[in-house]
Amino acid sequence: MESLRFVLPQSEIPTHWYNVVADMPSAPLPPLGPDGKPATPEQMGAIFPMAILEQEMSSERWIPIPQPVREIYRLWRPSPLVRAARLEEMLGTPAKIYYKNESVSPAGSHKPNTAVAQAYYNRQAGIKRITTETGAGQWGCSMALAGQMFGLDVRVYMVKVSYQQKPYRRSMMQTWGAEVFASPSNLTQTGREALSRDPDNMGSLGLAISEAVEEAASRADTNYALGSVLNHVALHQTIIGLETRKQLELAGDWPDVVFAPCGGGSSFAGLAFPFIADNASGGRNGKSVRLVAVEPTSCPSLTKGDYAYDFGDASGFTPLMKMYTLGHDFMPPGIHAGGLRYHGASPLVSQLYHEGLIEAMGVPQLATFEAGVMFARAEGIIPAPESNHAIRAAVDEALRCKESGEAKTILFNLTGHGHFDMASYDRYFSGELEDFSYPEAAIKESLQHLPRFG
Ligand SMILES: *Cc1c(COP(=O)(O)O)cnc(C)c1O
Repeated sequence: MESLRFVLPQSEIPTHWYNVVADMPSAPLPPLGPDGKPATPEQMGAIFPMAILEQEMSSERWIPIPQPVREIYRLWRPSPLVRAARLEEMLGTPAKIYYKNESVSPAGSHKPNTAVAQAYYNRQAGIKRITTETGAGQWGCSMALAGQMFGLDVRVYMVKVSYQQKPYRRSMMQTWGAEVFASPSNLTQTGREALSRDPDNMGSLGLAISEAVEEAASRADTNYALGSVLNHVALHQTIIGLETRKQLELAGDWPDVVFAPCGGGSSFAGLAFPFIADNASGGRNGKSVRLVAVEPTSCPSLTKGDYAYDFGDASGFTPLMKMYTLGHDFMPPGIHAGGLRYHGASPLVSQLYHEGLIEAMGVPQLATFEAGVMFARAEGIIPAPESNHAIRAAVDEALRCKESGEAKTILFNLTGHGHFDMASYDRYFSGELEDFSYPEAAIKESLQHLPRFG
């Protein structure tokens, strides 16, 4: 019998993360402060530890993973690489499909890869508390878990609509010892102002980020942690692609194309960036790998946004970052892939897209659930709605191969399981789930509010 699962021994957990900046054609543009000048480490030091800021600005190719972080990674890493042979058969495609299964972490997604590292560096810096935000609940769970591992108190501002719709994500965070508040809350100035404007405000990721940042900036014992977008987060996630490359060697295969869902861009960065190193040196056997970020058509930052400096949060507390953005006050439609409802995309992912080194595409909601159900029935694992975006793209590529007769190798990131998203699957099955049209007018409007200088 042919092997379907490619599993590495724990001794093969990578010792270094890969920093794509070392292989980028031009240096990344710096984040800017409110005055339009490059943000200083002192400004950012109010909410991040120095070790993280150094990673944020580093151009070293390899950055060592601290031993205590690797020790925690042992709880679920290396994660399996799996050949989706039953899905291939169901589709009748000559293509080979592989997925990296990041759903095996205790929190159920790839996000603990960076949460554990961030908790470690904050602990090292003498920090006692972390504030953060969560939309769908995946990041809040990951930070709660990581805080527990390193003895940090964690306070999570959870977007109110998710707080109400996903009570068990809240219970998970509490089980790992975190405090969870619905955002907007009355604990911060930002929250109180939002509530006074609209007492029924159901919250947004941008607003929850503003609350968490405001609190962290006001307390010396408290720092802030972000689950996506920033360079250090992308860096920590490269453990996904680094393991995958070794596993592909075990499988004796190499991908033609890689798909990952893209919200802020960390899961895409994690799987795809290590292949950029190969592409930069001419590809394997002269073959370079197509790297495709898959976003919802209703929150299309890469495919329909502007490449401009914008805030990372709704209220304008964060430094300005050069990225593809729909405007910081863009309110994405209520799609069920909560983890993909972010107005911007990671500056590194954005720059690579701008320079043509990676690709991006959008997929509509119903098609993603259709693909996710197909995957669950063939492979057994029920994917997170976010992961369904990558699955849709992989299935479509495999179906194109069926038409052309090409036996391509397709790889995608199964970023998480959907065990806490079954209400969304219910809505899909009962026909209540809808495709939101591309919110052109709303995007046009919010792009008018991009910060301008000079
Ligand atoms: C958060 C999340 C994503 C999106 O990650 P980004 O870094 O925002 O692109 C994808 N899948 C799952 C399961 C997630 O929890």
